[in-house]
Amino acid sequence: MNNAKSSYDAVIVGSGAGGGTAAWYLSHHGWNVLVIEAGPYFHPEKDYLASTSQWESLFPQKNLSQGNYGYADMQQLSEANDDLRSWNHIQGRLNKTDHRIPFGYQHVQGVGGSSLHFSGEAHRLNPRSMKMFSDYGLSADWPFSYEELEPFYIQAEQLVGVAGPTVDNLRPRSHPYPQKAHHPSYSSQLLKKAFAERNLTLTENSVAILSSPHHDRPHCNYCNCCLKGCPRTDKGSIDVTYLRMARKTERCYLKTGCYVTHIETGPKDSIKGIHYTDSEGMEHFIATPYLILAAGAVETPRLLLASDITSSTGLANESGQVGKNFMETILWTSNATLDAPLGSHRGLAVDSICWDFNQPDSIPGVFGGCRFSPSVAESDLIGPISYAQRVIPGWGIQHKQQMRKQFGHVLSLSGIAESHTHPGSFIDLDPVIKTRHNQPAARIHSYVDELTTKRIRFMANMCRDILNQAGANTIFEEFSSYDIFSSSHVFGTCRMGNNPEHSVVNQWCQSHRWKNMYIVDGSVFPSSGGGESPGLTIQAITLRAMKKLHETQKNTSS
Ligand SMILES: Cc1cc2nc3c(=O)[nH]c(=O)nc-3n(C[C@H](O)[C@H](O)[C@H](O)COP(=O)(O)OP(=O)(O)OC[C@H]3O[C@@H](n4cnc5c(N)ncnc54)[C@H](O)[C@@H]3O)c2cc1C
Ligand code: SF4
Repeated sequence: MNNAKSSYDAVIVGSGAGGGTAAWYLSHHGWNVLVIEAGPYFHPEKDYLASTSQWESLFPQKNLSQGNYGYADMQQLSEANDDLRSWNHIQGRLNKTDHRIPFGYQHVQGVGGSSLHFSGEAHRLNPRSMKMFSDYGLSADWPFSYEELEPFYIQAEQLVGVAGPTVDNLRPRSHPYPQKAHHPSYSSQLLKKAFAERNLTLTENSVAILSSPHHDRPHCNYCNCCLKGCPRTDKGSIDVTYLRMARKTERCYLKTGCYVTHIETGPKDSIKGIHYTDSEGMEHFIATPYLILAAGAVETPRLLLASDITSSTGLANESGQVGKNFMETILWTSNATLDAPLGSHRGLAVDSICWDFNQPDSIPGVFGGCRFSPSVAESDLIGPISYAQRVIPGWGIQHKQQMRKQFGHVLSLSGIAESHTHPGSFIDLDPVIKTRHNQPAARIHSYVDELTTKRIRFMANMCRDILNQAGANTIFEEFSSYDIFSSSHVFGTCRMGNNPEHSVVNQWCQSHRWKNMYIVDGSVFPSSGGGESPGLTIQAITLRAMKKLHETQKNTSS
């Protein structure tokens, strides 16, 4: 995977949703780009286990595919919120302490970044969630409108091959989805009925998972292993979409297992280049006319904070906002068993969704939206080992009989809510924990405030009610962001905005001061949206920013 030239038109740090999209856009438009990726390459057919006897294993991490992180002490929990704690009927409370604890920042370091084990949801933001500060005094406003982003959503959906429903009442569309929505699973049909009995709508989810062949990728076979890595490549992870297209231009070069340790500045407020360590521990420097940072919302601020050797405030941190405004996944999940066989171990990870509470003012008494969707795969309940550990207790013949009787009977419902900035949620450099290259690791500070707790309570009540309505016997397990930090959607730590005093990059993702440096990943989000998955929005923002960069560069050089 490592190939090289002596100089490039741009260097891109990270190959996830932001970095992969930037690599495609620029190489497609004639730029020679180098992508530097800390993690390894995953071969879908060889590395993923869905078609082997090991199919139930978790995502097959490799050497270098996970980072080290520190977690600051988290807040004390209140007994008044004991109904919001995570538990399982066999293990009891999942957090046995009286403080919130970290289960971790869920990520993959590898070619394609966290999209390698994502569920494939491809969401646009609710336009109203982009003005949360003006309308409700929460987080910050986006520096451009939904309408300005819409053409880039269309482009991203077409490049990846997104399958979705014909109607979307909340997000105006100028073109239909390029692929037909997937047929809902039996579990989703049952949930849809339960939602309808509450006058709510469960509809087909929009997913970057092919319902019919697209370019050189086949349609999905509904094995439900999306979070374990898709061996067929129908799931639109960044390695098999943007990066595959970028490599075909023969202008996109990739170095894997190479960790960028710091950024060097040059004269006149310019970035000179980056220093990186390769997989054998050798240190290198590479100069670049343009630097595109896309290391994700935890690693990008870490790199900036660790880069400025002249002051302790970090590079590009003139506003003091690098690492601040950290937003995370705010989750509630309830898992139950039903008498009826559901076959819920098969299908798509998240094939349906309820958007009825996605507007910023649709949850009674609390600002900020949320959404609901089935979550058997996201709860890792698609195989017999997890059933034996978490659903059906016991041993021997009786246990075997129960396993035969109940396997595939789990119904699971999750809510994901808007996350807002709070002074207690930020990223800084850990004073003790180091990365494997002896750099200070990122330390995650996360705080759940009263508004967030109210959103979690709303989602808990709704999940329990809908599962009961669907005929659930007993709820046997619940997960909650109230007592456990476990985040797969991370945002906000290099916020974009028009005012350099309050933001790190401008609306084109360009550093306010260091004009040849761009940031294109989840870190630039001013607000999180109402529970939408962020991958498609990161791609759309990146396409918009790279178009502007390309056009400006073309005009300057002509
Ligand atoms: C289990 C799970 C399920 C998810 N499901 C969905 C979903 O269904 N839909 C959706 O839209 N989103 C989903 N997400 C979130 C989505 O995957 C992320 O939001 C998205 O991938 C973030 O893209 P990014 O470009 O910001 O960063 P990343 O994907 O994290 O990419 C950053 C890359 O930079 C590399 N890097 C970091 N530091 C350095 C360094 N110093 N030097 C070199 N390289 C570096 C990393 O190795 C990584 O590959 C899910 C995430 C998880 C974990
Ligand atoms: S369900 Fe479809 S997208 Fe998911 S892993 Fe299986 S084949 Fe791939």
